[in-house]
Amino acid sequence: MSALGDLLIARIARTGPMSIADYMADCLLHPTHGYYATRDPLGVAGDFTTAPEISQMFGELIGLSLAQAWLDQGQPAQITLAELGPGRGTLMADALRATKAIPGFHAALRVHFVEVSPVLRAAQAERVPDATWHDTADGLPDAPLFLIANEFLDALPIRQFVRTGDAWREKMVGISDDALTVGLSAPVPLAVLKHRLPDTQEGDLVEHCPALPGVVQSISQKIANHGGAALIIDYGDWQSLGNTLQAVKNHQKTDPLRDPGMADLTAHVDFAAIAAAARPAQTSPMASQGVFLERLGITQRAQTLARGLTGEPLKSHIGAHRRLTHPDEMGDLFKVISIYPVSATAPPGLDP
Ligand code: SAH
Repeated sequence: MSALGDLLIARIARTGPMSIADYMADCLLHPTHGYYATRDPLGVAGDFTTAPEISQMFGELIGLSLAQAWLDQGQPAQITLAELGPGRGTLMADALRATKAIPGFHAALRVHFVEVSPVLRAAQAERVPDATWHDTADGLPDAPLFLIANEFLDALPIRQFVRTGDAWREKMVGISDDALTVGLSAPVPLAVLKHRLPDTQEGDLVEHCPALPGVVQSISQKIANHGGAALIIDYGDWQSLGNTLQAVKNHQKTDPLRDPGMADLTAHVDFAAIAAAARPAQTSPMASQGVFLERLGITQRAQTLARGLTGEPLKSHIGAHRRLTHPDEMGDLFKVISIYPVSATAPPGLDP
């Protein structure tokens, strides 16, 4: 058991079982033992790889989509170009390079990052030295907000509930034989899950992310007040159904209760919850990542880049295009939604 595992067992012994959300929060964000507090988890040598680390095309196309949204909204001066959970800063660096030639865009923007991990903040500073960092999305400036969040919301802690009658039993982390184990609370009726009664049955498991509405409201309020657009990309679907809590270490799935703080923990994102929290801004229809990237011209971009390549680099470039877009890879699993003002049109790739 990891050091954090010992701490959690001692705490549960003193104060009783903890929710999956509290468990996730400690595993990911504990100041000394938390997963994100202590390491750079990305890339081949790390635990998982994300779209911007697979190919430069991802960040380039997202940058161009947001820049077009800026043009469509009349090129507002002094905008925020923000990213939530920027990882190594790769996506933003690619987006900035791709948008350099758009007259006035770079002069208008300031880059702002929302990041908790000191290790990843340092990596981001190497690629985007002029950025400003914040602990939460609330800290972003009151200005037109053009924002990207890729694989950010999936890191926010979720609670899990199993339906019994019209009430719900919560999955709780407790201890048995000196090891962590999952049990169920007594059933309680829950206002936040009232909207799930019509589409679920006895025994169904649903997930609820308590922090998601606050984050989405905070950025939507700025977009509604000042203009801008957000592109939110993650794995998930329109509503959560079933257990999607996943632990990944060294590119392999592992038991979420094993070695707390040593593996990445994520859960699928409920895109209906994003849409519900986005008022007074509006949301686009949800699209799959593959369709979104194709609409933005990833195949043309891939062909252009392929011209300069031969041998292994060409093979890996073709593989990267497939990984980002193919339905058997990330193309269908990952979804995209945009938040934008009611007076504006959606960014390219998500226009209804
Ligand atoms: N977007 C990047 C990294 C995804 S990993 C990419 O696509 O490569 C998740 C990122 O979110 C990391 O940068 C992590 O440190 C950050 N993060 C996780 N939980 C967070 C929280 N509660 N607040 C701020 N940042 C968080």
